[in-house]
Amino acid sequence: MQSGSVLLFREGDEIPPEYLLQAIWQHQRLFRNELKTLDGQPVRILHPGFLNREGGPDFHGAVIQFGSAPPQSGDIEVDLHLNGWHAHGHDRNPAFANVILHVVWDAEKAVRAMPPAIAIGNRLDASLSDLGFWLNSEASETWPDELRGQCCAPLKNWSAEQIATLLRDAGQIRFRSKAFQLQARARQVGWEQTLWEGIFRALGYKHNAWPMQCLAEQRASWLNTQLSPEALQARLLGVSGLLPPELTRAQAAADGYLRSVWDQWWRERDAFSECALPRSLWRFHGQRPANHPQRRIALAAHWLASGTLPEKLERWCAAELTDDRLAASLLELLQIEPDEFWSWHWTIRSPRLEKPQPLLGAARVTDLAVNVILPWLWVRALEGKNQLLQNSILHRFEVWPAAEDNSVLRMGRQRLLGGRSKHALRTAAEQQGLIQITRDFCDHSNAVCENCRFPELVNQQAFTADSSKLFRS
Ligand code: SF4
Repeated sequence: MQSGSVLLFREGDEIPPEYLLQAIWQHQRLFRNELKTLDGQPVRILHPGFLNREGGPDFHGAVIQFGSAPPQSGDIEVDLHLNGWHAHGHDRNPAFANVILHVVWDAEKAVRAMPPAIAIGNRLDASLSDLGFWLNSEASETWPDELRGQCCAPLKNWSAEQIATLLRDAGQIRFRSKAFQLQARARQVGWEQTLWEGIFRALGYKHNAWPMQCLAEQRASWLNTQLSPEALQARLLGVSGLLPPELTRAQAAADGYLRSVWDQWWRERDAFSECALPRSLWRFHGQRPANHPQRRIALAAHWLASGTLPEKLERWCAAELTDDRLAASLLELLQIEPDEFWSWHWTIRSPRLEKPQPLLGAARVTDLAVNVILPWLWVRALEGKNQLLQNSILHRFEVWPAAEDNSVLRMGRQRLLGGRSKHALRTAAEQQGLIQITRDFCDHSNAVCENCRFPELVNQQAFTADSSKLFRS
């Protein structure tokens, strides 16, 4: 939600800003029993959907009933004007193919070849200026109770410690399932290759996990540990398809680097044409500059060129470390020497930064630890039948500090945990547990929790010690 909306929106303004329209829809600040589409069909909003903070329609997973037809699930797009549908290119964008209702501020009549539309400007439950004040208050940050999941009410009877145990148990299930996935892959390609694939995937974040995985799968074709980090960067940037085509640009420093990587890639690109990836595989939209795949590949090239990462991780695993040193010690291990170019640039094309920036931060280290490194080490200890080591690795997982918040966690806290703050999840294991529950249950149901067994299971298990029985393993 935007702050300062009271200043932006005043009595007498006739059209609200679009984010206020989204908030009105999300919280259903409407006379809900009087809603009709522009072509006169009554509309029942069984669930307004979940706000989408990325590209695509404004809300996903809404449940809507038109007239006496059965309820249907789909997306909602909110625009000020009806012509926004064509003007913003939604009609040509496949991401909008599942829009079942177009919510607009004001319109007179429906237009053919568009999804059903509804105008809400004259259906508000308060004046626009009151809604503007409301938007700026805490109330607009909290979901109304009727939008929460059906498990939220029974879980309210659980103590904070019981919830933490439930989340830790679910987190362990998730941890083991990742570990067994790595084990299955290692049976095909070996342990070290599996580790690199996991690391590359984690460096790709959610948008570029797949191309990073493809790149890592070709490791045997492009890896030469005799190469310097810069030479390996050139090869990887070339193979990945992320090397910009033109050589001349205003930024001289970037040009110098680009010229040198191109000089190398030019000589060897034919030899790697079979494993080269198309640039179209990568997604750049909505990404922080620090997470740009070019920068992540540059970092991976340093680890690969050193040739010692797996051994270093095993030594780290065997070392005695206090809980408060775990994350910092792994960060130290993974940190690289300053890179002449990449410590000073977000991407090949970006201008030189005023201050050097590390290529790896604490948040990424936590993702690598929780999703790849700890499960990989644990399942190796399992294969080696080393119970002590397994226990110690599981302990590290359980006490690892919480990762950065994300959209799945935000949604889970709202739907299941009554809007608890992000600080309520104290460890990465608890966060992983909440993600596991949403994957196991919410992803198999809909916004109104149809056929979800979780509330019933919560009720049955409410005061037993072993909440792991609740999950699919
Ligand atoms: S779908 Fe199930 S787990 Fe998800 S919020 Fe609804 S009741 Fe809870």
